[in-house]
Amino acid sequence: MNIRIASASGFCFGVKRALELTLDARKAPAGAVTYGELIHNRDVVRKLEQEGVSVIEDLKEVQGTGKTVVIRSHGVPKSFHDEAASLGIPLVDGTCPFVKKIHRLVDGFSQDGSAVMIVGTATHPEVVGIAGWCHGPVFVVDSLEALVAWESQNISADGHFSHPLMLVAQTTIRLSLWDSVYAHLSERAMHLVAHNTICKATSERQASAETLSSEVDCMLVVGGPHSSNTKKLYEICKKNCENTYFIESAADLQMINLLNCDNIGITAGASTPDWVMDDILNQLKKISNS
Ligand code: SF4
Repeated sequence: MNIRIASASGFCFGVKRALELTLDARKAPAGAVTYGELIHNRDVVRKLEQEGVSVIEDLKEVQGTGKTVVIRSHGVPKSFHDEAASLGIPLVDGTCPFVKKIHRLVDGFSQDGSAVMIVGTATHPEVVGIAGWCHGPVFVVDSLEALVAWESQNISADGHFSHPLMLVAQTTIRLSLWDSVYAHLSERAMHLVAHNTICKATSERQASAETLSSEVDCMLVVGGPHSSNTKKLYEICKKNCENTYFIESAADLQMINLLNCDNIGITAGASTPDWVMDDILNQLKKISNS
């Protein structure tokens, strides 16, 4: 069994940084909690809980406890910072600097009430966070079809959107989606300011997954079931390799028949820690030697 790991995979810079900030914050006298699961990976969340760092969904849960609240790499709306300040809750901002840059862009652009369009998934915490730094209308589109539907409501009779509009991307979307939305919109929005804010970590992972999945008989995509960047890696690999499997840990290998696979490729989402990859590699070696 030949095992190859995608050249870019696993923890990205922003996730690594948020985890380090959390491990630091837990040393505060009253301890720390994270706002939402720090990373879409149950293994990491379990490990943090063992270290005394639990997850909260509402700031009021820690009001008056002195606990520090860590903001995860996805970031949060501005109103969250305001609420923490008014409740006297200390924050550690683990927002990835690349996401923070998007907050600054939309915050600055929309000061006069100008509109922002985000290419991404409306319910994703990163998109919710970005929308929460906008001061005017916010539109979220996750496909070309959604953009066309938006146009039917917002484009004037002359076929143009005549107001200033900033276009940004959720950092984990596919480049092809950005390209198609941008190409379509740039012909219609008269005052478009577009910033391709897709993170390089994402595109590098997608490109190396794309290459590797076209060269192997079986592809394992490792990550949490709620991780959008891992889901996208899965979609890319599945197109090239029918035997593509989404797994979260070494235990999931039991459910896959790898006996007919001579060449196995592995890639991992940006929220997958090295220790999960190591477990999987060890397990694959055992299967290969059995
Ligand atoms: S994928 Fe990119 S933007 Fe998102 S946390 Fe990682 S480094 Fe930051």
